[in-house]
Parts: sequence; C-alpha cells; structure tokens
Amino acid sequence: MGRFVDLHVHTTCSDGIFRPEEVVRMAAEAGLGVIAITDHDTVDGVERALEAGRQIGVEVIPGVELSTRVGCLDIHILGYYLDLNASPFKECMERFRRERRERARKMVEKLNLLGVGLRFETVLEVAGEAVIGRPHIADALVREAWVASYDEAFRKYIGYDGPAYLPKYDISPEEGIEIIRKAGGIPVLGHPGTARRDELIPGMVRAGLMGIEVFHPLHPPEASRYYQKLARKYGLIYTGGSDFHGSDRRMAPLGSQQVSYEVFQALRDLYERARA
Ligand SMILES: [Zn+2]
Ligand SMILES: [Zn+2]
Repeated sequence: MGRFVDLHVHTTCSDGIFRPEEVVRMAAEAGLGVIAITDHDTVDGVERALEAGRQIGVEVIPGVELSTRVGCLDIHILGYYLDLNASPFKECMERFRRERRERARKMVEKLNLLGVGLRFETVLEVAGEAVIGRPHIADALVREAWVASYDEAFRKYIGYDGPAYLPKYDISPEEGIEIIRKAGGIPVLGHPGTARRDELIPGMVRAGLMGIEVFHPLHPPEASRYYQKLARKYGLIYTGGSDFHGSDRRMAPLGSQQVSYEVFQALRDLYERARA
C-alpha cells in the first residue's frame, strides 16, 4: 500500500484528459495506494475506475464533485463513498447531464449571435463521453479556429464576464450536501480557499457537511493550516488531493499534494461509522 493518497481526481468523464482506467494505472505508477474519482457532476467514470483498481491493486473511492452556487460564486462540494445505485442520486446525475448539455447549446447560440459560427456538433465531438462544460466549448472554438487559444476563448467569450457566458444549472451548497448524504456519501467542501466565503461554512455544517478539503494546489500552506484548524473547530474531517485534470492548463500532477494515508483512514472511518 502506497504512503500517499489522492482524494480529488478528474477523468475524461468530466474535464480531465485521461480515461478512468488510465488514471488508475497512473496512480499505481505514482505509488498511490488510494484515489477518489471526483468528476464534475457525474459518476460515469467510477465503475470503470473501480474495476481497474481491483485489477491493478489501487483502492478507488467512488466520488463526485458537485457544482453549487451562491450568488455569482461557484462552491464545489465533494462527495465520497456514494452509493451509485441510490435512485434519487442517479436521477440527479441524469438531470445534471441534460442541464449541462442544454447550457452548452445555449452558449453556442449566444456565440452564433455574436458572429462566431461555432457548430454545436463540434462541441459534442470534443466532449466525447464527458458531461459538457465550458472547457469543451473553449477547445471547440480553438478547433474551428474562432480563437487562437483556450485562454482567448475564456477571455473573449465564455469567461464569467464574457458575452456568451451562462451560469450552470443552480443548486445551493446545502442541496448539494443533501444529495450526497441521501446517497450515503460523505460531503466535503472542496478547496474553500478559492471562493473564500468562510461565513457560509456554519450553514453548510448545519446542512450536514462532514469535511473540508484542506490540501489543494490552489491552497498555499498557510491556507491549508487555517482550514485544518477550521475543520477541527467544527468537528469535521479534512481531506486533500491534486484536483488532477492531466492537461497543461491545470497543472498539478496526480498525487502532488502528498496527502497522507491517515487522511484517507479518517475518511473511511467516518464512512464506516456513518454506515453502522
Ligand atoms: Zn473544484
Ligand atoms: Zn476538481
């Protein structure tokens, strides 16, 4: 069993560039004993990763990263040890997939009105098996040569202030927490250091939040220490991971946060206690 774990990993089922099977193999090569697959608003990659993990000898935690919203702010709620067959959860994931596709279609319409003739089919091609997100639209814009780069796509069109931007289908952090709890999962607030809205945490704790992600590439060491203390204050566990996407635009390598095995054990213990 490897010394380190990585509890925040994306695959081609959302906006990562490696397939679930590849990510598991890479985890084994990186000496990781445990990884959690936490794709955005989908668990499509989990079964495949579990199967690969059984073959290769990497423990895979079924997870998700739900996008939730407060005002104009994105708050990500990680969910661990989900029961994938809980039917309200399945329906919820299906709804997210439909809503994301519809949002992308509307963003392409907005682009078309701006004189950018991007075809929705190209976006679908780029997204492949993934739940569609803005990165796919950006890549499609590059592929059809409407922009020179991924960054330009965000800067000119689909960034938060861009003329073709549309917000995702909205759920609140509390709703996200409830969805995860109902599927038997452990909800954990993802990288709170990016939104810095710590005043929202007590409400999330009341809604059933069970952990805070403390180790993350966008958290400098002092932020990690601060959120570790905050987790203790609220009696929550803390987690961490690389938020691995595998592409050069989101650079952190798999396992790069060097999260200790004890962090995983605390998560697993909590899950086992909650289940008992
Ligand atoms: Zn996130
Ligand atoms: Zn993530």
